[in-house]
Amino acid sequence: MRLAGKVALVTGAGSGIGRATALLFAREGAKVLVVDVNTAAGKETVEQIAAAGGQGAFAHADVSKAADCAAMVQAAETNFGKLNVLFNNAGISHADDDDAVKTSEEVWDLTMAINLKSVFLGCKYGIPALRRAGGGSVINTASFVAHLGAATPQLAYTASKGGVLAMSRELAAVHARENIRVNALSPGPLRTELLMKYLNTDEKKQRRLVHVPMGRFGEAQEIAQAALFLASDESSFMTGSEFLVDGGITAAYTTPL
Ligand code: NAD
Repeated sequence: MRLAGKVALVTGAGSGIGRATALLFAREGAKVLVVDVNTAAGKETVEQIAAAGGQGAFAHADVSKAADCAAMVQAAETNFGKLNVLFNNAGISHADDDDAVKTSEEVWDLTMAINLKSVFLGCKYGIPALRRAGGGSVINTASFVAHLGAATPQLAYTASKGGVLAMSRELAAVHARENIRVNALSPGPLRTELLMKYLNTDEKKQRRLVHVPMGRFGEAQEIAQAALFLASDESSFMTGSEFLVDGGITAAYTTPL
C-alpha cells in the first residue's frame, strides 16, 4: 500500500476531488481526517471509508476561519497521533463571480477567504504538525484557470487560484530543508458538482469542451490518483511544482476536430 502508516488530512472531503481522494488515501493505507463545512457530507465520506475497511474520522471546519483550521489539525493528531499529509483542497466557485465590473466585493472577499486564505491557514497550523512528524507532504488544489485566461470570466476564482500557485512555490522553497514538500495540484475541468453547477447548460459545457484536446471532462478519481502520487514517497524529489492534470487544456492552442 502506497500510504501505509501515514496520517492524511483532506479538506473539502465531503464531495468531488476531496471525497475521491479521502477514499483512495484510505484504500492505500492512510488514516484519514475528513474535513468539511458540510457535516452530513463529511460523515458520509467517513462511512464510505469504514465500509471499504479503512480508517477515517470527521472534523467539521470552515477552512476560512483560523480557529477551525487550528482545531482540524489538532483533531488529526488527537485521533491518529500525527500528521504526514495535508491536502488543502476545499474551494468554491461562486455563481455571481464574473468579470471585474459585475463581481461584487462580497463575492471577491468570500472567494479569497475560502480558496486562498484557507491554504495559508491550513499551512499555518499544519506545518508545525508536519514538523512534529519529521516532515511530510502538502498539496494545495489550484486550477488550470490559474495558468490560462478564460473568456467566460470568474475573476475572483482565477485570482484566488493564482495566489495558491504563488504561495505553494514560496512554501516549497522555505520548507524544503525541513523534509516538507509543497506542491500545487492544478486540475482541468472536471465533471464534479462545482463545475457542473457553473456550466449548467449543454451550450456552456460544449463551449468549455471545445478547448480540451481529450474532448471530455475529467473525473474526480483522476485527480485523486495524482494527489496520491504527490502524497506518497514516490514523489520524494518533487516540490514547488504546479502539477497539471488537465486533459491537455493548457497545452493546446487549438484542439482536434
Ligand atoms: P465540490 O464542490 O464537489 O467539493 C468541494 C467541497 O468543499 C464540498 O464538500 C464543500 O462542502 C467543501 N467546502 C466548501 N467551502 C468550504 C469551507 N469554507 N470549509 C470547508 N469545506 C468547504 O468541488 P470539487 O470540484 O471537488 O473541487 C475541489 C477543489 O478543486 C476546489 O478547490 C476547486 O476549486 C478545485 N478545482 C475544481 C475543478 C473542477 O472542474 N471541478 C477544476 C479545477 C480546480
